[in-house]
Amino acid sequence: MNWRSHWIIPAALALAALPSVMAQEGELQKLQGIWNIVSLEVNGQKTNAAPGSRVLIEGDRFSSQGMGAEYDGTIEVDPSVTPKALTFHFTGGPEKGNSSLGIYELNGDDLLICITTRGDVRPAAFASPVNSGLALEVLKHQHVSHDLGFDDTPMLPGLPYHVHDYLRPHPHVVTPASEPGGPPSDAIVLFDGKDLSKWKAQASSITRAGGAGDPEWKVENGYMEVVPKTGDIATREKFGDCQLHIEWSEPPDVAGTSQGRGNSGVILQGRYEIQVLDAYKNPTYADGMAAAIYGQWPPLANVARKPGEWNVYDIVFEAPVFDGEKLVKPAYFTVFWNGVLVHNRKASMGPMVYRQVTHYQPQPAVDSLVLQNHNNKVRYRNIWIRPLGQYDEPEK
Ligand code: MG
Repeated sequence: MNWRSHWIIPAALALAALPSVMAQEGELQKLQGIWNIVSLEVNGQKTNAAPGSRVLIEGDRFSSQGMGAEYDGTIEVDPSVTPKALTFHFTGGPEKGNSSLGIYELNGDDLLICITTRGDVRPAAFASPVNSGLALEVLKHQHVSHDLGFDDTPMLPGLPYHVHDYLRPHPHVVTPASEPGGPPSDAIVLFDGKDLSKWKAQASSITRAGGAGDPEWKVENGYMEVVPKTGDIATREKFGDCQLHIEWSEPPDVAGTSQGRGNSGVILQGRYEIQVLDAYKNPTYADGMAAAIYGQWPPLANVARKPGEWNVYDIVFEAPVFDGEKLVKPAYFTVFWNGVLVHNRKASMGPMVYRQVTHYQPQPAVDSLVLQNHNNKVRYRNIWIRPLGQYDEPEK
């Protein structure tokens, strides 16, 4: 869709070319203020207006926001003809110097506009046939209550919103879990204690052994438990940037030392491991202890609970970004371990490797979450994930 179709719609008003100045001014008066685009059809195709698309009419000037480029200019209306006519004259933006011809119908707070996106023939009817070059637009008058925000405040730098903009999208509503640590309403529950239907077996990230088809890890009493030599498990769904909640516990029958005691791992995108290990009175190399970004960064603190007790990781993971072969942005980890911050948006040096310096390799934007089988009977429960949202997304 070209610029005009996009914005034209919004604009909507006009100035009378011929009738009495009074009639024209009276009509313009009714059009003052902000008009939100409700729907848009161009060349017979319904299209979604960008969130927050609107047109502001002040006097005989108009401006538009939320439609990529900013457009502005003057409007003329002629309410003396049938249908009523309007013309937009652009004095700024990509269409500077051009005009668009249209007709409109104003009914209280509802405004219907049909306007040209090319050519100089004013439409005769409210329709947008295929290849007509006409845009049909439905707009709704926005009534401003300063109780709920403003439209006369400065624009926020680099944003299409005023300070306290009453039109800024409100975040979608998420219902929190009834118990702390439970999955909020928009989380994808990966394990609720009952079954491993969200998981598949995968060859071990350590030994390359095991792993095909359905997972063979044990599920009982609301947790899953690693079954040695059956391979890792990987989510069937793939993820990019995400918030992950996962609880784990170490075998109460303490056995082995260092990396051999209760080893497992939470491996984002099958590459980036936050270590799981018995870290309670179990010396090992610092960048391999529990909560380490394995082989790279120890956690900021050791927050381990005793074997048999439940630990909690709350992880915010930002996936790396590549432009072809080139790394544009590394992966980042923010990790809370039992509520304590242990990584604060720490950059990962690359995928998990053992006794090597890691390097990034181009990869898919999304990939499975993997839980590592290190042949120790580590348990997991209450696993849920939320893909990260963006600011100013439209309300759902
Ligand atoms: Mg591990």
